[in-house]
Amino acid sequence: MSETPYPYEAPASQALFDRASAVTPGGVNSPVRAFRAVGGTPRFMVSGKGAHLTDADGREYVDLVCSWGPMILGHAHPEVIAAVQEAVARGTSFGTPGEGEVALAEEIVARVAPVEQVRLVSSGTEATMSAIRLARGFTRRAKVIKFAGCYHGHVDSLLAAAGSGVATFALPDTPGVTGAQAGDTIVLPYNDLEAVQEAFHRHPGEIACVITEASPGNMGVVPPDPGFNQGLRDACHKNGALYISDEVMTGFRTSRSGWYGVDGVTPDLMTFGKVMGGGFPAAAFGGRADVMAHLAPAGPVYQAGTLSGNPVATAAGLAQLRLLDDAAYEKVNAVSTQIQSLVTEALSKEGVAHRLQTASNMFSVFFTDRQVRNYEDAKRQESFRFTAFFHSLLSNGVYLPPSSFESWFVSTAHDERAIQKIADALPAAARAAAEATA
Ligand code: PLP
Repeated sequence: MSETPYPYEAPASQALFDRASAVTPGGVNSPVRAFRAVGGTPRFMVSGKGAHLTDADGREYVDLVCSWGPMILGHAHPEVIAAVQEAVARGTSFGTPGEGEVALAEEIVARVAPVEQVRLVSSGTEATMSAIRLARGFTRRAKVIKFAGCYHGHVDSLLAAAGSGVATFALPDTPGVTGAQAGDTIVLPYNDLEAVQEAFHRHPGEIACVITEASPGNMGVVPPDPGFNQGLRDACHKNGALYISDEVMTGFRTSRSGWYGVDGVTPDLMTFGKVMGGGFPAAAFGGRADVMAHLAPAGPVYQAGTLSGNPVATAAGLAQLRLLDDAAYEKVNAVSTQIQSLVTEALSKEGVAHRLQTASNMFSVFFTDRQVRNYEDAKRQESFRFTAFFHSLLSNGVYLPPSSFESWFVSTAHDERAIQKIADALPAAARAAAEATA
């Protein structure tokens, strides 16, 4: 055991982190990468191939993050790489329309029935921000309902998760978001239809839309109760509001048409990202043609992007989506089920109270013996056990999301060697979780 609470050091990553911290706030370009929730040195990765990542110290990890979802075919898939190389050789950005973006839009429309028209953007944040603006412009209403524990990117008005109960006006979660920006956001507990109905009752004619993760993965995996999404849609339609399903995480991952392919509830607008970009910055929002017709230049609601529909990103996304046939989803689902069983078996053997929650092939482990239905439940888990579990796995070459409030992601590239490595690492990790103290 080293002198630090972490099983081993990572000198090359540490040196890079020191350099990064001098020039970048917190040393990272997206907060959760900094390992703040679990402590220790974030690993700086230098390459990825299939199910594996290699860090700056030359250590290899089985990757259960998959770039937070996009790498559903594993890293450096040869056909995706070939499509990217071919696109790059033709030029990297034109600022004009191009065929690649048409083909990607057609692929999305063909896969997801509620999407009649789609607009490409560069990040999930842009997609949800634009969808909300469009919903407000279409309905000429201001208020938005979101759910505590659902993350929709760092959109000002959606960084309001504080407050719970019935129709609580949200306080901003972060300095820099003004009361005015968050003031039209109503934050409600997840899986609570009564709270939604009550909010509509309190604010007649004021609510533009309800936005929800199609199946939340940002408080750990907390799937909607049966009927919840349908209930949201019904409440929206009864009250003249739009139902926005955020499929940035679930889209093209949980099935070929995302969570829509699982629960069949038809949203008015949907947002996508991650998988559809094949590891490049590409995202989208789309839905009903009559609503999308309000978007500039067809309609008055302004939205734009210099790099929207970028030819390299669209080539990567299209190549990845075209490889995602039924067999690919069967494989990802099978890998997920296999890893879930290994995790449950290891933790049960050590008597560690836990709940493994799933949404198709997305899953996460909560260190609690109670079902997690919302953010308050998720916060009641014994996160200190996750920290011990995480570091034990990391030291044995398995890379988990560095927080207990995240989904784990797998890919078609998780082969027997990768799964065996996880199986070998789990007993010690389960023991570490069992022995952890708060
Ligand atoms: N919506 C959901 C459900 C997400 O999980 C995320 C990111 O994780 C976003 C939106 C924001 O996407 P991006 O990080 O590409 O801005």
